[in-house]
Amino acid sequence: MRGEFSREAVGDIRELPKGRSVGPDDPRYRTLSQGFNQRWSSTPAYIRLVGNEADAVVELNRALDQGLRPTVRGGGHCYEGFVDNDGGVILDLSTMRGVEASTDKFGKETYCVEGGATNWDVYTGLFREYARTVPAGSCYSVGAGGHICGGGYGLLSRRDGLTVDHLVQVDVVTVRGGTAVVTKAHRDDPKGSPERDLFWAHTGGGGGNFGVVLRYHFASGIPKPPPRVWVSSIAWSWDDLIERPSDFETLLKNYGAFLAAHSGVEEPVYQGLFTLLKLTHRSNGNVVLVSQWDGDDPGPLEDFVAAIEDGMATRATVQTHSAGGLFLAYPEKHRQMPWFQATMTLNGSGDNQRGKYKSAYHRTPFSQVQIDAFWDWLSQDVEGVDLKQTLVQIDSYGCRINARKPEDTAIPQRDSIMKLQYQTYWTDESQDTDHLEFLSGLYQDVYQETGGVPEIDTDTDGAYVNYPDVDLGTADQKNPAYPRLYYKGNYARLQSTKKYWDEKGVFRHAQSIILPKG
Ligand SMILES: Cc1cc2nc3c(=O)[nH]c(=O)nc-3n(C[C@H](O)[C@H](O)[C@H](O)COP(=O)(O)OP(=O)(O)OC[C@H]3O[C@@H](n4cnc5c(N)ncnc54)[C@H](O)[C@@H]3O)c2cc1C
Repeated sequence: MRGEFSREAVGDIRELPKGRSVGPDDPRYRTLSQGFNQRWSSTPAYIRLVGNEADAVVELNRALDQGLRPTVRGGGHCYEGFVDNDGGVILDLSTMRGVEASTDKFGKETYCVEGGATNWDVYTGLFREYARTVPAGSCYSVGAGGHICGGGYGLLSRRDGLTVDHLVQVDVVTVRGGTAVVTKAHRDDPKGSPERDLFWAHTGGGGGNFGVVLRYHFASGIPKPPPRVWVSSIAWSWDDLIERPSDFETLLKNYGAFLAAHSGVEEPVYQGLFTLLKLTHRSNGNVVLVSQWDGDDPGPLEDFVAAIEDGMATRATVQTHSAGGLFLAYPEKHRQMPWFQATMTLNGSGDNQRGKYKSAYHRTPFSQVQIDAFWDWLSQDVEGVDLKQTLVQIDSYGCRINARKPEDTAIPQRDSIMKLQYQTYWTDESQDTDHLEFLSGLYQDVYQETGGVPEIDTDTDGAYVNYPDVDLGTADQKNPAYPRLYYKGNYARLQSTKKYWDEKGVFRHAQSIILPKG
């Protein structure tokens, strides 16, 4: 059996496999077979806590020999149930969480992040040891495993681009000719080579598509974090906005106009500004604007806030209710703090509960139709449904993110100014349908001018692969929308890469890259 360890099975790997299998009777089984999102849970034959590279190879071969479908788990934060695996094997990387200086296959210095690290492992490891960082997501508990290969963006992205813009190599276990093999795929592999395609596919192709990522290597020149930043949190009361609906409209118009004016690739002042407008449902109590400003002088941050409030009779107050996992009730409205502490503060992982998400890239300020749709859905009470934790989070985008061309990385959206994340959370399973229907209805209404989705190459530009949404179609459907909306013109290259590296479709889920015909 290949599942047993032998030198032959693992090629030139010089370590013995180490790891643990967790079966249904193990107290860890329930935890490891459930996602961060409580909607996702499955009954795998067992979960393998992969301990090292040799173990990943041996255990993947063992699963194949037993005819068990493998799925891969990094941090378990998938928005959909892509890791769920009834009767198969979950390969869980979460004990492989090293972050350290290393070298790539060409001997050049890199920073290496193992496939089971969390964002917090990455921030802590890079900051404390090397005074470096990557412009990754704001939530500490998200896993690098899925996060990085989906693109990875966060509070420093307007300044430093996407996380994948700094990636130079991925070490991946793929299945070729029916056997697991480790490939180190590099940015500088020969143009047109399968290895170069495999590397590129991990710059936004999304997790669970090509193999098991053991390690991500980043360039030695990854960003230095700012020593200190300003964190601002202000809020507008929904009671006031209900009294003055035109203020809601002005707020959205101002926000869009500011980002349209200050998100160019060479933006001179505001690259260091990252903002999150949390447009909650009225039952939440307040609409919140959280910002991080990387500059010693708070003047530009104050100018930004003034521009957003310009023409509104409703004045901002201190945040009164938690919105989208963040509650920053600063009487002084903004505070300066060391960057690392701000990163902790702005973590919005929130509780483990049930959740549904949708996303959209926007290239222009909101249209009147879109603003009206936000108002119609968010300002109305819905009988019997608790929507206090329902919101549209409007993140700033652009600046250095847009310095890359769409085809440079697998993530193609490179001229947007905002990224929207539609979110709703609840705990009671009997409320699933109410929440799913509400979010779908809101989303379809906002994008009613383009067929109910944020159509590409219009005022909008598709959706984010790391915020997957099965309402955009599934791999078993004829002509699903998700390949176009996530990948735009990059899909054909992703499909040919899939054909070479996973010809049998071993790595698959509801929205995986579909093998091309023939
Ligand atoms: C609370 C929260 C906050 C978030 N904040 C941000 C944010 O600020 N910015 C942002 O860009 N995104 C954010 N995200 C989205 C996040 O990037 C994705 O959910 C990401 O895919 C999670 O990765 P994971 O490893 O934790 O998830 P998992 O559920 O483990 O995996 C997600 C997908 O990736 C695959 N995968 C995981 N690990 C590996 C691996 N080692 N090799 C191959 N495939 C793998 C899985 O099979 C699955 O298909 C957030 C998500 C949550 C839940």
